[in-house]
Amino acid sequence: MKKLFVEQTIDKIGQEVELYGWVDSKRDHKKIVFIDLRDRTGIVQVVGDEKFKELNSEDVIFIKGIVKQRPEKLVNPKLKTGKIEIQATEVKIISKAKPLPIPVNTDGYEIDEEIRLKYRYLDLRRPRMFNNLLLKSRVTTFIRNYLTQKNFLEIETPILTKTTPEGARDFLVPSRLQKGKFYALPQSPQQYKQLLMVAGIERYFQIARCFRDEDPRRDRAYGEFTQLDLEMSFVDQNDILTLTEDLFTQIVKEIFPDKKIQQSPWPRISHKDAKEKYDSDKPDLRKNKEDKNELAFAWIVDFPLFNEQTESDYFHGSGKAKFAPSHHMFTSPHPDDVKLLDKEPLKVRGLQHDLVLNGYEVGGGSIRIHDPNIQKKVFDLIGFSEEQKKQFSHMLEAFTYGVPPHGGIAPGIDRFLFTVLGEPSIREVMAFPASSGGKTSVMNAPSEASTDQLRELGIKLTTRHSGER
Ligand code: ASP
Repeated sequence: MKKLFVEQTIDKIGQEVELYGWVDSKRDHKKIVFIDLRDRTGIVQVVGDEKFKELNSEDVIFIKGIVKQRPEKLVNPKLKTGKIEIQATEVKIISKAKPLPIPVNTDGYEIDEEIRLKYRYLDLRRPRMFNNLLLKSRVTTFIRNYLTQKNFLEIETPILTKTTPEGARDFLVPSRLQKGKFYALPQSPQQYKQLLMVAGIERYFQIARCFRDEDPRRDRAYGEFTQLDLEMSFVDQNDILTLTEDLFTQIVKEIFPDKKIQQSPWPRISHKDAKEKYDSDKPDLRKNKEDKNELAFAWIVDFPLFNEQTESDYFHGSGKAKFAPSHHMFTSPHPDDVKLLDKEPLKVRGLQHDLVLNGYEVGGGSIRIHDPNIQKKVFDLIGFSEEQKKQFSHMLEAFTYGVPPHGGIAPGIDRFLFTVLGEPSIREVMAFPASSGGKTSVMNAPSEASTDQLRELGIKLTTRHSGER
């Protein structure tokens, strides 16, 4: 294993070091050749002789050499390692690189995104992208430590599952063993996390992948994203908001010390007030929108439990009712409003909470229904047919065996990071996002299935699509 990162050479003056990395650039001064050697921590100048002439940008090399202090006038203040350089005594080319299709020593914004995604493994070599991945890793590690200390259990839930409606279209996966049937990829672990509360776990979290077949936007990648999914038993809404607020405040302090949270505790604004005052349910409350370091968090609460159903709601029932859940169908009505469910459902408030940051909805959650009768009533109000209700009968049944009151939230991790960093698109904080056309980076999925694969699944395509094998 490599022992030393480039950045660690700074305090090795006078010592012999061995380094592995990529040739970032080369400056040929005839008898003396300089290269910048790069690894994930930065670059360092290496001074070599004629043997260095055969090195090209992006070759992977090994060098051995002595760390030398640079004379005062040759110090490069732009580099972390600018006070030193390595006098090479040995160089080996480990693998040669062809000229790259895209530059990797710029910030990359200037390059067409399709090409960046096709060569994502090169695109990620640029320090800006490495730093975004590093920050994401630090954020998830922080979350794990924080929640584990508070007695949460990290639990995985299935990816091959049944529809979990969050208001988007499902991705379906055909079953080979039960031909003609399909799994759905989870839009979130919503039902499983509620079932884990029935199971007595009490405090659950997961860094969960969610799959939604909906059109990409600046703040939404196509197909999949990662959220911190959490659920707790024996809590009220205030407990969930307080815990989440403390967690994200600590994350900002620890990982983004340059950022300033505009107001603490975060303002809690009713949905009605947000609409009236800001004409938005995710208002941008920053006082100075030019300031890159300002973070204006807020909670939006007291949402209506239902909206009027529209054609674009995917869970709409085949029945006659015309209401769609404003959050999802497991959100509890406000206890004071339960009596309105029968007569004036649009007036019922839900125990939903949205986490808003600088004008983006970074997460949402709720206190859940745990009374099977109220859950049935909500199914009726959203117009579920008997057939559709059967799809969720496991929830109703589970709630008959002793269910704790419970609730949770799911802040989007990519969404949070993208907002904090002020990146132009959420794809800038994802390693291998799909392009806006739904093509996956590098591997170019989706692709055709062979006739044999389709036969095994019992699937016959009705139309011949171009490229079908
Ligand atoms: N399942 C919800 C979502 O993905 C979050 C929650 O209600 O906890 O938005």
